[in-house]
Amino acid sequence: MTTENKTVLRLAKVQDAHLKDKNVLVRVDYNVPLKDGVVKDDTRIRETLKTVKLLLDANCRVVLMAHLGRPKGKPDVKYTLKPVADHLEKIAGVKVHFAPDCVGPAADKVVAAAKKGEIVLLENLRYHAEEEKNDEAFAGLLAKHGEFFVQEAFGALHRAHASTAAIAKLLPGAIGFLVQKELEYLDKTMVSPVRPFLAIIGGAKVSDKISVLYSLIEKVDTLIIGGGMAYTFLAAQNTNIGKSLLEADKIEEAKNIILKAHRNNVEMLLPADHRVVQEIKPESKMEITQAMAVPEGWIGVDIGPRTELLFADKIKASKTIFWNGPVGIFETPEFASGSITVANAMAQATKAGATTILGGGDTLSVLKTAKVKAESISHCSTGGGASLEFIEGKQLPGLVALSQK
Ligand code: AMP
Repeated sequence: MTTENKTVLRLAKVQDAHLKDKNVLVRVDYNVPLKDGVVKDDTRIRETLKTVKLLLDANCRVVLMAHLGRPKGKPDVKYTLKPVADHLEKIAGVKVHFAPDCVGPAADKVVAAAKKGEIVLLENLRYHAEEEKNDEAFAGLLAKHGEFFVQEAFGALHRAHASTAAIAKLLPGAIGFLVQKELEYLDKTMVSPVRPFLAIIGGAKVSDKISVLYSLIEKVDTLIIGGGMAYTFLAAQNTNIGKSLLEADKIEEAKNIILKAHRNNVEMLLPADHRVVQEIKPESKMEITQAMAVPEGWIGVDIGPRTELLFADKIKASKTIFWNGPVGIFETPEFASGSITVANAMAQATKAGATTILGGGDTLSVLKTAKVKAESISHCSTGGGASLEFIEGKQLPGLVALSQK
């Protein structure tokens, strides 16, 4: 697998690089949820262990670099990666040295003290504004920590930053196992999906997902639109949506997408009924609408029970299913029923032999809410933005930079 959607990229794989006794710099995506200094979901960390173990077994010193949150280019203890280093040490079962900075004397000292077969995790890359500016001099300081670069941060590939793009020009490099797995699944899905191919797109805003919707209607057999964004589509068909979320300036775009889907013979499904409230509060009295319209003064917060059945049936009848974005305000348990039904139907479809792919941080949280294990889905992408940009057919800067001439 050396292709990306548009141009063929030539990407070396970490297992083919035959690294031994080397200092290897690895970009990982450890942008994980933390609460009171404890890692709440370590999926992204665990997914990198295969690459880390390969390097440790080859007696390499593994220097990991990552970002956490948005510290605005300066140190902010709220965004320290120290808890991640502690967690990693527990699950990897080897010594993890934590460097209090990612570049400069403090970092160099910790890296130099680490032995071969050990790990160093550098402090948050985004403590330096140069990271997001793709600054070459900053990348040069990072490059001092290794002789070889491994790109394992799928979730950061759509960003041209110093640790994802500029660095790749300074060291020989390859992609890790996680990036390989992500690209294989997304490539297979978009290039040669087993049909029927269904996409379920939910979430808050149409504006975030316009390009991916245009791309999907060229490929899928059925497109389901749920969540907050469904209301702009309903409004585009002159259906009353009450006080539900509306992006008035996207109505024309929604009409265009509906028209294009029709021309492409793509079946497009919108919610047929809704769970509605008068105020978005857990204790609000909830009603179920009789049909597609939302009564005046009410807000659609979740799909209704008839829509749950409709969506679940479509999922069960499909052979490839891509899902991004919850179909209701699932963070409030009272409004999570629709998203839980979709998650369970995805798990059942996987069991029945379908390929199921799920992307985006929020969609992963829905799985947790629904108590559906990640293993019940064929592939849970660790990068929401990167997976959407890949499907849109955009070049991912982190891959372009690594591609061999
Ligand atoms: P996104 O990041 O675009 O996938 O959006 C996820 C967000 O969409 C979640 O925080 C949900 O609460 C929100 N969402 C889902 N359904 C609705 C809805 N009916 N109204 C408002 N927000 C929604």
